[in-house]
Amino acid sequence: MYRTHHCGELNTKHIGTAVTLSGWVQKNRDKGSVIWIDLRDRYGITQLIFDEARTSETLMPLAKTLGREFVIQATGTVIERSSKNPNISTGDIEILVTDLKCLNQSKTPPFTIEDDTDGGDTLRMQYRYLDIRRNPIKNNLIFRHRIAQLVRNYLSEQHFIEVETPVLIKSTPEGARDFVVPSRMNPGQFYALPQSPQTFKQLLMVGGMDRYFQIVKCFRDEDLRADRQPEFTQIDCEMAFVEQEDILETFEGLTRHVIATVTGNDPGVFPRMTYDDAMKRFGNDKPDIRFGMAFGELNAVTQQKDFQVFNQSELVVGIAVPKANELTRKDIDQLTDWVKRPQIGASGMVYVRCLEDGSFKSSVDKFYDQDDFKAWAKITGASAGDLILVLSGDTQKVRPQMSALRMEMAERLGLRDPKVFAPLWVVDFPLLEWDEASERYHAMHHPFTAPKPEHMALLHTNPSAVNANAYDLVLNGNEIGGGSIRIHDKTTQSQMFDLLGFTPEEAKSQFGFLMNAFEFGAPPHGGIAFGLDRLVAILGGQETIREFIAFPKNNTGRDIMIDAPSAIDQNQLNELYLNLKTIE
Ligand code: ASP
Repeated sequence: MYRTHHCGELNTKHIGTAVTLSGWVQKNRDKGSVIWIDLRDRYGITQLIFDEARTSETLMPLAKTLGREFVIQATGTVIERSSKNPNISTGDIEILVTDLKCLNQSKTPPFTIEDDTDGGDTLRMQYRYLDIRRNPIKNNLIFRHRIAQLVRNYLSEQHFIEVETPVLIKSTPEGARDFVVPSRMNPGQFYALPQSPQTFKQLLMVGGMDRYFQIVKCFRDEDLRADRQPEFTQIDCEMAFVEQEDILETFEGLTRHVIATVTGNDPGVFPRMTYDDAMKRFGNDKPDIRFGMAFGELNAVTQQKDFQVFNQSELVVGIAVPKANELTRKDIDQLTDWVKRPQIGASGMVYVRCLEDGSFKSSVDKFYDQDDFKAWAKITGASAGDLILVLSGDTQKVRPQMSALRMEMAERLGLRDPKVFAPLWVVDFPLLEWDEASERYHAMHHPFTAPKPEHMALLHTNPSAVNANAYDLVLNGNEIGGGSIRIHDKTTQSQMFDLLGFTPEEAKSQFGFLMNAFEFGAPPHGGIAFGLDRLVAILGGQETIREFIAFPKNNTGRDIMIDAPSAIDQNQLNELYLNLKTIE
């Protein structure tokens, strides 16, 4: 038997007990006549003691040779420590070792296995198995497991069935490129890895499964933006015989249960906001509502004066930054430079100081009087001590610029508290978006999303005006889930493919299976998928999903530990008909 207890378990109640522990050497403090070893396993750290007076002579030399990360087994008696460590659960005791075995040696690790490590990101990823020994990563993985478990239990209790869907499939468009896998048995043909199990979960509804979920890997070959992974995990769900309201209620229940269990605080009823409202008030379809600073549109009160910049703008929009009148002129100049950086791209910024005596001072005093500023303050909700910041230009550009500025101000003011959780449903997304580059409509969610029934008539006359029963769940400014009510009849699905620029032949060859299924009694259905990695990271109070994935890829999509992707040899290429010469 390697161990009788683990390293986080023993306390004063065990004094006098004979125990055997196994684990890794965290630290070896050799004081000559006394040696202390901190022994670590997943559960904690227990101190081992060897001293000349009480330990058999043969053990002392062996104990001295044990370096960091050696794997050892120690047997001994639990005794009370003379100097206690209140910071750890085993801090009142130590083990007076009577038997010791080195189970395996270790090279000196390339970084310290401590909560605060000296290892950089690359080194930590290259030796991820060592990184996982550290508390922060280990705890994140345990936390992730806990959340996955909560989700599984909750959904199972609600009669959802977890069904596995295939990984070698045909393209399921979710707006990214497919990863493809060549088929050896079918020369020149390829599988696609699922961007999501979307079509399969719909087929499960046609199959009468009624309530499905799956914690599942999805694959999207996108240019990797910061903190995206080419493979990621979704909590994928679908229900039959439901309307949007049923879905929102069910998954609000799930999310509330998870947040309440993890944080101890019930977030209450989730507010809802339409997509149009979110864009108008926050310039963004995933607003962070932990703080205010909603946009105030100022066109009506700014455009009748001589300030040409505003007169020529499609949108003049301001936010009231709380208590920011404290900012110096220099601070504001720096902020102006910040919004003018190419990443943000504003052409300039106007400010109004709301002074304590109720008057205003601004960078455009020449053009506007105190009454004007009073109107601006009213619209933006500014009070004395606040600073109104105003941007202007084309609506499509100004909104994201102002959204970035709002987030930046919130960050600087410490309003993005990771311990506060503010969920929000964003509903009534447009069905389609016009893509200038390809001069085509794209599905805003995916091609299986149903138009709102009352907008069906607009599908051919004014497609841009059609809204969908599509919804996103937003948490602290992050989209953590999204879904829709689906099309469940062949005619509408064909119309949709047509709108998206598929020829009937293309639609048939790519999605014939789904349209066929729709001819065999497909029930009304809808669903949602949550990004598990992000959900876990946010609930864990962090922004980086990588820290919550056991073996993540770096930001060029590489696994630098196993060195993938990598070249394959010529024989393998030949076998897969990937060698052009072979195909000829
Ligand atoms: N398949 C969708 C996605 O991955 C989610 C859904 O519509 O249920 O975003």
